Amino acid sequence: MNKATKECKIIAIVNQKGGVGKTTTATNMATALAATYMKTLLIDLDPQGNASTGLGISYEQRTRTIYDVIVDNVTIEDTTLVTTIPNLSLVPATVDLSAAEIEIINVNKREFILKSKLEIARKEYDYIVIDCPPSLGLLTINALTAADSLIIPLQCEFFALEGLSHLLKTVELIKKSLNSSLQIQGILLTMYDKRNKLTEQVEADVRECLGSMVFTTVIPRNVRISEAPSHGKPALIYDLKCSGSLAYLHLVREMLGATH
Ligand code: ADP
Ligand code: MG
Repeated sequence: MNKATKECKIIAIVNQKGGVGKTTTATNMATALAATYMKTLLIDLDPQGNASTGLGISYEQRTRTIYDVIVDNVTIEDTTLVTTIPNLSLVPATVDLSAAEIEIINVNKREFILKSKLEIARKEYDYIVIDCPPSLGLLTINALTAADSLIIPLQCEFFALEGLSHLLKTVELIKKSLNSSLQIQGILLTMYDKRNKLTEQVEADVRECLGSMVFTTVIPRNVRISEAPSHGKPALIYDLKCSGSLAYLHLVREMLGATH
């Protein structure tokens, strides 16, 4: 299929904390975009490879991965796999990627490797979604240097805001030195439990501190979302009608109209 829009948009899903819903957001957002006929590429940039597993890509299929793209003379096109979801392709990752940050430490313009590797791919896709690792190391910096915008998933728990100011400072630094056009697309409240008083308190605090930066859409805590990856499917394919899938569809609708 040809791409539907002229400009490709590259969106990084970032939070240096683990377990906040980055991979869930990346896979379901990419699936929702693909479902709206947007030609979409999901890049698994986490050595844990959860986005690859969550899309049903076995280890045997991951013969060439994002590691080879970052460290070697391999192109994005050489590593791209088609998925069972129409309009959605994937660049997979394996644990090999954990060595990449050290291997590129002395490379000239090491922050720009992914950006330059995406130059050709961006002509082929409407959206490229990057699932980042739980750190602010060189891989995440590569993603933020390549991206047009970022989404920050925030888990509705007591320490939700901890670490966020550091992340926002990092984004400011990257805007100043590496990517002046980077925008925060929005902060996304995940694992939202409306029966829990703490969730309400966290939401109130986050909205008070960050105002319009926070997406109106929240992602509910939903067991179908957590079951889906073990079936090798995004929640949107596993159970389109569950509350989590509906929330991700809603998010994409909101996102297509909003940047900050
Ligand atoms: P990260 O990529 O930030 O480490 P994940 O997306 O892998 O986070 O989510 C961490 C865990 O929480 C996973 O087991 C995932 O299935 C589960 N999870 C994520 N979002 C939800 C949700 N809205 N409801 C229930 N479980 C969720
Ligand atoms: Mg993850």
